[in-house]
Parts: sequence; structure tokens; C-alpha cells
Amino acid sequence: MNPLRQPEDVGAFVDAPDPDRTTAAVVDPGPDGPAGSAPSVRPVPTEAGPSDSPPPGGLPGATSAGTLPPVVDHGPRTGNKVALTFDADMTDAMRYQLRSGAVRSYANLKIIDLLEREGVAATFFLTGKWVEQYPEVTRRLAASPNFELANHTYGHLAFTGDCYGLPRIERRKMTGDVADTFDIVAGYGGRQTRYFRFPGLCHDRTALAELAPLGLTVVDGDVVSGDPFATAWRPIVRAVLDNVRPGSVIVLHVTEANAPMTDEALPHILAGLAERGLEPAALSEVLGTA
Ligand SMILES: [Zn+2]
Repeated sequence: MNPLRQPEDVGAFVDAPDPDRTTAAVVDPGPDGPAGSAPSVRPVPTEAGPSDSPPPGGLPGATSAGTLPPVVDHGPRTGNKVALTFDADMTDAMRYQLRSGAVRSYANLKIIDLLEREGVAATFFLTGKWVEQYPEVTRRLAASPNFELANHTYGHLAFTGDCYGLPRIERRKMTGDVADTFDIVAGYGGRQTRYFRFPGLCHDRTALAELAPLGLTVVDGDVVSGDPFATAWRPIVRAVLDNVRPGSVIVLHVTEANAPMTDEALPHILAGLAERGLEPAALSEVLGTA
């Protein structure tokens, strides 16, 4: 990243693939597929950046509708703030696992307990189906002044081909899928945003163009914890602490059965951040748009 960029200009973080993203190959494989490398095409910034026009409704992440959404990996590399982000995936296959009794929970309450107990700020990227499955947990997230709510699609479908084996959404359904999810999450109030994360971080110019009418910011993240399907907590902690820097956006999961070690890793992550003088903050604060 260019260190000369102005921290207040979020549009400056719309960029080419970041050489720092050393662990991108293990990001968010989703429930169905093995890890692979996420195809990612980053757009050239449009002339109307987020700072050029006031966001509709003033929500963090809101951009001017009709322009290609900016794709953000991290905030300014100054200061000491970092963002803990937790994805709440939910697919039809996962719902079947719940209904059949094969899986007990895709909502890791131990993570939420810890964050609340310690007063730690975090941002939750919610799928619409997860919200429908866990309305009480969603209410709890929305009620916390420390938590921001963001959008992770309705049913965690792939927005590009070859995205960790996730079933693919039709192009004509992309806009509605994401718009519906904003509506579902909005019903819970709390700290709403126009931040959006693609399943598996898989996106291309077509997907971005389909979301242009929604006036959002795409948030990928620069620190991939690799927590999905982890069998031990130490590698998660190492992946985070080895790569975290001021302004980092850390990708974690709150999906319990599909990320069963995250709650064990979290206390070690928090301790390691504190040792490094880094402070978890809401995504809007880390990206400089609060
Ligand atoms: Zn996901």
C-alpha cells in the first residue's frame, strides 16, 4: 500500500491486489468447498469516491448509488485501530444440517459472550438466512453499542464461478439478494452500515457492477485467520498476529460448527493485539468513516 495516501480518503483504499495478503488462499472457504484461491478482480476507482458525495442516510460504508462499489482491504496504516470482523454464513446445506440434527449450532455464543464481557468492538457480516435462523442472537448483536452490523448476502451463494464449490447465484438475482439482506438486517436496528462482504471474498467486475445501485462498500480484509474448519486454535492465532498491522481488517467466523476453534483462539488474539498496542474498533472507525 502507498503510505502517502490520505487516511481520510477511504476511496484511496480501492486498490490493486495487496502484496500483504499472503494468506488469501485460505480465506472463508464456506461450508461446502475446499480452500482454493479466490478469484478477485479489483476495479479501478470510479471518479465519484465515497468522500465525494454524502452517503444516503449517512450510514458507514454508504457510497453514491450507481457507481462501482469500492473494494476495501484495510484502513489507514496509522494509529492503532484494527477491526475484528465475524462472518455469519448460512447456506441451504447448513440449514439442512441443523434441521437433521447433525449440527447443533452455527452461532458461536462464546464469541459474543467474550466480546461483550471484555467490551470489545467488532463487526458482524450477516447472511439473511443466518439472521432468520438466529433472530434472538441478531437482536443481541444489534443491541450492543460495540457491534456494527454488515451484509454477507442472503444465502451465501457464490457471486463468481469457482468459489470454493459454493453454488452460484444467477447474475439477475445479485442485486435483489444483497438489497433484501440489507432490509432484513435493518429491521434489527443498532449500528447499521452499508458494508458488504462477498462469500469467499469472490468477486469480479460483473458482480461489483450488479451491486452498484445499492451504494455500498465491499470489505474484503487484509488478515485472513483461516478459522473455517480449523482443528486447532494456535494456527488461527498465529495467522492473525503474524499479519496484523494498524488499520487491519481481520476476517473471522461466528459459525461455530464450521469454525469450531474461533472462540478458543479469540482470547489469545485479544491478548496478542494488546501486547502489540493494537485496539479493536468498529469497522467504520478503522476505515476512517465513523
Ligand atoms: Zn462467508
